[in-house]
Amino acid sequence: MMRAYFSDDQLRHHGKTFIVAGEKKPIPEVPERAEILHTAIARLGLEVCAPSDAGMAPIAAIHDNQYLDFLQTIYPEWIAAGGSELVIPNIHPFDRNGPYPRHHAGKAGFHLGDTSCPISETTWQSAYASAQTAISAARHVRDGGAQSAYALCRPPGHHASSNLAGGFCYLNNSAIAAQELREKYDRVAILDVDLHHGNGTQHIFYERSDILTLSIHADPMDFYPFFWGNAEETGAKDGIGFNKNYPLALGSGDDVFLAALDRAMVAIDEFGADAVVVALGLDASRDDPFGGLAVSPDGFSRIGEKIGTLTCPTVIVQEGGYVSVTLAENLYQFLSAFGATTKNISISEGPK
Ligand SMILES: [Zn+2]
Repeated sequence: MMRAYFSDDQLRHHGKTFIVAGEKKPIPEVPERAEILHTAIARLGLEVCAPSDAGMAPIAAIHDNQYLDFLQTIYPEWIAAGGSELVIPNIHPFDRNGPYPRHHAGKAGFHLGDTSCPISETTWQSAYASAQTAISAARHVRDGGAQSAYALCRPPGHHASSNLAGGFCYLNNSAIAAQELREKYDRVAILDVDLHHGNGTQHIFYERSDILTLSIHADPMDFYPFFWGNAEETGAKDGIGFNKNYPLALGSGDDVFLAALDRAMVAIDEFGADAVVVALGLDASRDDPFGGLAVSPDGFSRIGEKIGTLTCPTVIVQEGGYVSVTLAENLYQFLSAFGATTKNISISEGPK
């Protein structure tokens, strides 16, 4: 039986609002998501473990210290300066190689890539706990000898890069998990099946050949995050050839998604991955409020089944997937077909 990880501290962050079409709207990345995903875990009968606290080192292996300081200190600084209950930027630099401002609004613009990663009083606590959940799942596989583990990460992480939050993401849980695995395994792949391109993950590993990044997503020419995720982005320097994007036309369903997944699985095989992180977004669902792709519950079952054919250790990290009638069903179908209840059967659990 596969183990799941989750901490109640992950429920504390609530970004409340973000800006869509010039208007403040309720943010869809709500704590309730985690509660819904829990029902799928319970239905599968997976054991849910609280993560250990591995401290800051595994997080600082991926994120800049200046950014980590910002995430922990900007809220009180913002409030002391008369700011509202949410840190949201109003200016951004052309690039991030220039001077680092002293002013709270300047820092917010430096580190928050868009308006969909507001920082509240409890954001750091939840983002930190979400990262610890990913670390514990990775270590359960790396040090504990488990074949696979599921990290119920929330807030998600794949839009966050080393010094930049974005798209509901603050700490890149999938990247942190991959780096943890990298301490034991020479070649690690991150397979991102979220509706949105994993731009933060791509950016973090873009010049590296030891971690292959692959992302299947709605075509960024028509969909968030817009500026990254095209097939031509294949890596740089040592990382040339080690980043693969599979943009899909808006509205694509099961068969188109699975055809792209076939290509990604071949690439993982050719890379010779010793371990894999699955960045499991469920927002490619036909029922998801983002409405970019049209994967059915049966499609998630087929995706899980195909990924379940990987023979190397696999850590599944939850990314997006928003409240809809099939959110829990889609996770259940994926994990069930992946083999969550049949993998890692120990002698004591097995048939007598
Ligand atoms: Zn997403």
